Amino acid sequence: MDARHNGGHDGLELVLLPMVLMRDFSTDHAMLSINTATVRKQGDLLEIIEACARHGIRAISPWRDQVATVGLDAAVKAVKTHGFQLSGYCRGGMFPSDAAHAQEARDDNRRAVDEAKALGAVCLVLVVGGLPHTSRPGSAVSHDLAGARQQVEDGIAELLEYAKPAGMPLAIEPLHPMYAADRACVNTLEQALDICDRLDPARTGALGVAADVYHIWWDPNLYRDIQRAGRERLLAYHVCDWLVPTRDMLTDRGMMGDGVIELRKIRQAVEAEGFSGFSEVEIFSELDWWKRPMDEVLRTCIERHKSVV
Ligand code: ZN
Repeated sequence: MDARHNGGHDGLELVLLPMVLMRDFSTDHAMLSINTATVRKQGDLLEIIEACARHGIRAISPWRDQVATVGLDAAVKAVKTHGFQLSGYCRGGMFPSDAAHAQEARDDNRRAVDEAKALGAVCLVLVVGGLPHTSRPGSAVSHDLAGARQQVEDGIAELLEYAKPAGMPLAIEPLHPMYAADRACVNTLEQALDICDRLDPARTGALGVAADVYHIWWDPNLYRDIQRAGRERLLAYHVCDWLVPTRDMLTDRGMMGDGVIELRKIRQAVEAEGFSGFSEVEIFSELDWWKRPMDEVLRTCIERHKSVV
């Protein structure tokens, strides 16, 4: 699909491969961001920020519960003191609910936008939610997946009206289909981009996707849809690896290089569209990396960022 045929020479058909220059990550880790869930068991957010600073890491992507634990003001202060950039803020979303919980979902998401803004994040990552009773506990039990998907789109449309004037881009993160019931019923880049095109047809930059290799590596349409996303829609890029076997649906993500994902090829595709942001390492690993000292995890992230990302 990358070959371009030049038919202008009689009988002689030249196949021109596009010149794609990837950024060179091998000599430093200037473009590495740490999603703070990667070391969430080893310390609170302020300790994580200190550790990242020690290792010369200059970007993070924190989670709301970690910010809440230390307080938003303290988190903002630590981020500014160290001059960190935020490659994202995790997370808004969980849109599906029953009618009784709709206001809660709306208010919660608006607070997420406000926090992302205070922290200076480049985007608010949306994990959109699955069925109502799993996304918003207390909601009536529902098996209506199509209805949940409609609620997601309606929820994003409404949140966009709040986030756009605030200058906070929303990044829909498609999740692997094994999470469709409880975490996200948007499961492919295609689905996410369809929503983007309906809600932001002018490609203003206010709405896009977070491309996380863990969730999209298997998709037969991956490269087509990265191209379709293009620069305006590619708001965040998350890396880890897919372990074989995977021992837990949620908390057995691999360190880059330990699994089967073609990391270089995917980054090349994303960068070919003009993505120039951070590679954000996001690893949930109950069985391995959450058990190791924070410095060892960060050191390994840096090494693998240079050697395999
Ligand atoms: Zn992610």
